[in-house]
Amino acid sequence: MPELDGDNRHVVVTGGAGFLGSHLCERLLDLGYHVTCIDNFVTGSRANLALCLENPRFTLFEMDVTEKVWCEGPVTAVAHLACPASPQDYLRIPLETLKAGSLGTLNALALAQEKGARLLYASTSETYGDPEVHPQSEKYWGRVNPTGPRSVYDEGKRFGEAATMTYLRHFGVSTSIVRIFNTYGPRMRADDGRAVPAFVTQALRGERLTINGTGGQTRSFCYVDDLIAGLVLTLESEHPGPINLGNPAEVTILELARTVAELTGVDAEVTYCPAMQDDPVRRRPDISLAGELLGWSPTVSLEEGLRRTIEWFRTAAPSTVAEASP
Ligand code: NAD
Repeated sequence: MPELDGDNRHVVVTGGAGFLGSHLCERLLDLGYHVTCIDNFVTGSRANLALCLENPRFTLFEMDVTEKVWCEGPVTAVAHLACPASPQDYLRIPLETLKAGSLGTLNALALAQEKGARLLYASTSETYGDPEVHPQSEKYWGRVNPTGPRSVYDEGKRFGEAATMTYLRHFGVSTSIVRIFNTYGPRMRADDGRAVPAFVTQALRGERLTINGTGGQTRSFCYVDDLIAGLVLTLESEHPGPINLGNPAEVTILELARTVAELTGVDAEVTYCPAMQDDPVRRRPDISLAGELLGWSPTVSLEEGLRRTIEWFRTAAPSTVAEASP
């Protein structure tokens, strides 16, 4: 990535007030970077930035990336994370999600080009859709339903990848695409509908755990600290990607529910709800490329990551018990 002198390295993080973005801002500040967070708070919050806001090297701009992405002075890198990410969010605000993947990514790329900065694009395992290939490696082109309800997210992200590659090929911008697989940890919203916060908050409230579908569908869950380490390594490298980042330990959703129940010490029953349309049946990253190029692999086991997450929901989450939805 282009170096500014010494401590003047400056990263713009779009979506920095969200779950992953706020952890990334904190890690970059810890590493000595200046950080500018751009966010419109559609799914993120100022509360996520409490630690960052105490740091003099941190700046916060309230801005909608689908309108502009702007920042004063030299910029070393732009980490583009702004986009609603949970199915519950993107089905509630579909047009905003499509625009974040498309217009937002074009605007972030334009800023990187203008500043001569590197751009890191937070893509997703959802670009693989409901895959016929298992585990998924970066060579697989995916199986996405382009007209289904989830396409606002999946196709927006695929457009974002095409836009990123266009800036790399035609304008010589140093870019990298990371395909992030399911990541969990402190600061997920209790009501965002993703499996880990849903199960944890339901268990802590002594409610039944709700599973969409049979519970036999699999996912691979990566603890947030591991994922952030992978993002920083990619940002500081020159690799264009796409690179898968995720934890290859695959579990069924029913196994996840049982593990959460066990770790919270409750005897929770399970309720089954209808499956979501186009919900992938299996999901596991092939992370050999991240190992080869970055020397990266996750280190936190599912059980350990869940313990840390449960502890956060118990002690620090804003109104966990009152706000959680089934
Ligand atoms: P999140 O919803 O917690 O964070 C997204 C952030 O982007 C929020 O702060 C939101 O307010 C902001 N945002 C959305 N639209 C915006 C806009 N138009 N202008 C400015 N800010 C906007 O989600 P997350 O889990 O932290 O995901 C962050 C990124 O990582 C997303 O791009 C997502 O697609 C990607 N990703 C996440 C996961 C995961 O498991 N968490 C998996 C794959 C990909």
